[in-house]
Amino acid sequence: MEEIIALAKRRGFIYQGSEIYGGLAGTWDYGHLGLALKNNIKNTWWRRFVLDREDMYGVDAAILMNQNVWKASGHVAGFFDPLVDDLKTNKRYRADSLLEEAGLSIKGMSIEDMNNLIKEKGIKSPEGNPLGEVRQFRMMFTTHVGANQDEASVSYLRPETAQGMFVNFKNILDSFHPKIPFGMAQIGKAFRNEIAPRDFIFRTREFEQMEIEYFVNPKAWETSFDHFRNEMHAFASDVGLNPAKVHEHEIAPEDLAHYSKRTIDFEFDFPMGIKELYGLAYRTDFDLKSHSDASGVDLSFFDEETKERYIPHCIEPSLGVDRTVLAVLTDAYSEDDVGGEKRVYLKLSPKIAPVLIAVSPLLKNKTQLVEKAREVYGILRKEFPGRIMFDDNGNIGKRYRRQDEIGTPFCITIDFDTVEKDQTMTLRYRDSATQDRLSIEQIVKVVKEAI
Ligand code: ATP
Repeated sequence: MEEIIALAKRRGFIYQGSEIYGGLAGTWDYGHLGLALKNNIKNTWWRRFVLDREDMYGVDAAILMNQNVWKASGHVAGFFDPLVDDLKTNKRYRADSLLEEAGLSIKGMSIEDMNNLIKEKGIKSPEGNPLGEVRQFRMMFTTHVGANQDEASVSYLRPETAQGMFVNFKNILDSFHPKIPFGMAQIGKAFRNEIAPRDFIFRTREFEQMEIEYFVNPKAWETSFDHFRNEMHAFASDVGLNPAKVHEHEIAPEDLAHYSKRTIDFEFDFPMGIKELYGLAYRTDFDLKSHSDASGVDLSFFDEETKERYIPHCIEPSLGVDRTVLAVLTDAYSEDDVGGEKRVYLKLSPKIAPVLIAVSPLLKNKTQLVEKAREVYGILRKEFPGRIMFDDNGNIGKRYRRQDEIGTPFCITIDFDTVEKDQTMTLRYRDSATQDRLSIEQIVKVVKEAI
């Protein structure tokens, strides 16, 4: 993980948030290449789950919402984590994490149970100090909207994007008159005041989610659940994750969230262990029913085919953007030996690599090579918009090393043979570090086959 964090900073993927002021815990800033990687991941998701389907409606809801949304959703009353203090250092920890790290099961446990278990087993802080009483800690960031700082002006930074879709359910019905089943999709920021942000971008206080709320007839929920289960695996493969590292973890009935009848966590082999990557939940009619009751607005659906009126049930595939970035980076990080030298490279899928092709002149002070390289760069930019880099920094060996480190699958070098002989150029493949001499048409074909 240390090597990945160092590479991410060195090569302009991800920086510590507010770094020049000593940072702000749980925040990270994406640089030019990290942003390109993140955008490619989001676009891949949007294409699979929205553009390539006829039953999905996109939404981009406001982050700030009426406080009643969070009362109806259950977040104001129940979005807490169990917090415990180290009595000597005053450092704060998540009690459930400390118990799990001590190899104890916390399935279905209340705060009181956790307090008893800590006492019974003599659980200490990671520094070996005694712990205080476990208590509930609110994970939503509170703010005030407008000039008045009173109870009525309270709002929250949304802790999930889901509610922005439930509150727009009726708008989508009225604008598009969809048939059941249909879904709403959103990509956006979410905020959680995590007690212990950790593991780079795995657990942060500000992150992005890609979520779908898919509305179904309650009699047919299982079909859609299985469909999205398969789609989530397919998406993990789209972004190049090794399927053998993606595991399903069925949540036991006693551990299900209050709104869920079935949940599968998709876990991934991260360097720090097997951890949650995504979640798939059957949320029943909990959300639409709660918002209907609390707002007084009827959120039922009239099914023209079956002539039934009912509140649709909901299947929710919830995917973290940043956790996908971390999974992709850790899965892609590779080391080998090329020509007797150690090489570090990112084996990113050509579908999401920030740079798809780097184009270079063999020598940067030879005008004829630079002009030809610029011409090739211009042609490829039209073929693969936004995915080509012109690179004339340093010598060719250094360029290859740098492009390997940022995961560029293809490098093209223009040399004297290109301009003086046959217009062919070298195409270098990142993973094998081997090369072919090809025409530009042949190169376009090879690259198109890879994406
Ligand atoms: P965890 O148990 O790891 O805290 P969760 O079960 O609370 O996660 P969900 O509420 O199901 O997570 O959120 C859906 C997805 O959002 C997660 O699967 C994950 O990909 C992402 N996510 C949740 N919390 C964070 C966070 N603090 N930082 C980064 N991504 C997050």
